[in-house]
Amino acid sequence: MTDIQTPLQRHNTMSAIRGKNTKPEMIVRRGLWKRGFRYRLNYKRLPGHPDLVLRKYKTCIFINGCFWHGHEGCKYYTIPKTNTVFWVSKVKRNKERDERVKHQLNAMGWNCITVWECELKPAKREATLQSLAFTLNEIFLNNHKVIPYKEQEAAPLLAAEEMI
Ligand SMILES: [Zn+2]
Repeated sequence: MTDIQTPLQRHNTMSAIRGKNTKPEMIVRRGLWKRGFRYRLNYKRLPGHPDLVLRKYKTCIFINGCFWHGHEGCKYYTIPKTNTVFWVSKVKRNKERDERVKHQLNAMGWNCITVWECELKPAKREATLQSLAFTLNEIFLNNHKVIPYKEQEAAPLLAAEEMI
């Protein structure tokens, strides 16, 4: 059989198969960029090759398809009626791998955020991106929290005041 695809078509087909630059990912990328967040794509050096990596926030973002990653309680996660056993074990394996990767990244000091595809449907999209931005800012503040100083300084002052 001859290959009738042009190089560009083949490139597009391969991209689609690999799942890069898929629509949900583009929505998240645009939403974050618009809000001033900068990121790296498909960071190969980290476990699980996170879709987006924000080094400043020490955060990895995974954009998960509801079916393949088994989004519990989601209407897009319905196991097909044929080959049920196959699909159940396939999704189960994917979920186990997701968990493993998250633990690895956490152990390396990275935060992980999962964005589900269903949360990016037009009706929910803006709210999802808004809460994603909120979470990232919270993580940033948490990472840069300075606690001990004030408390240590405050103590002697209070003691001095009591002497008066
Ligand atoms: Zn879902």
